[in-house]
Amino acid sequence: MSAYIGACIVFYDDSETQKYVDHINVRQYDENWSHDTGCWSFVGHVANGAQDLNLGPDCLIKGTIQHEFLHALGFYHEHTRADRDDFVKVFPENIIDEYEINYDKLPWSLWANVGSPYDIASVMHYGSTFFRTTEAASAGLYAMTDLEDQAFDAQRDRSSSIDMHQVWFTISKTMTREVHKNDIRIFVVDISERQDVF
Ligand SMILES: [Zn+2]
Repeated sequence: MSAYIGACIVFYDDSETQKYVDHINVRQYDENWSHDTGCWSFVGHVANGAQDLNLGPDCLIKGTIQHEFLHALGFYHEHTRADRDDFVKVFPENIIDEYEINYDKLPWSLWANVGSPYDIASVMHYGSTFFRTTEAASAGLYAMTDLEDQAFDAQRDRSSSIDMHQVWFTISKTMTREVHKNDIRIFVVDISERQDVF
């Protein structure tokens, strides 16, 4: 985490002063703070006051940290867009049961339109092997592929330009209350209590 201090988000140790009431608790894996090994965040601001965002030992990758913070800002996974079947194929039979929910398509009503195209390079998009069963892995099958049945990796280097467009749009929308009416919807502004795992 310290490697990324100086970026656009300021990390502040508030455990002593309790100066900020309405904030995100970034829980890093260590013996004093959190033993939760997951990478997760709530989607949106879900409570009055602070809420947790967990970064386990395998989460300290720039793109993964951005992924979890984008959840906290209201982003769902890109591959759960209602129109995702026009761009990828999802194979529920190859996904571990308890994680199938992470692939569920979301209704249009949960999405706000910002006119962005589907973005397979989004930092919010899974790769083909995410939560694949061991049986599927042994058989060379995937949880998700492109429309040509080709596997792809998740991009976790950084937020894509389309991701950043959506962040910009959301901030400007919050400030101006403008509503755009394009054909493609992509960004969630509604609050959900759903907890996300990676
Ligand atoms: Zn996620």
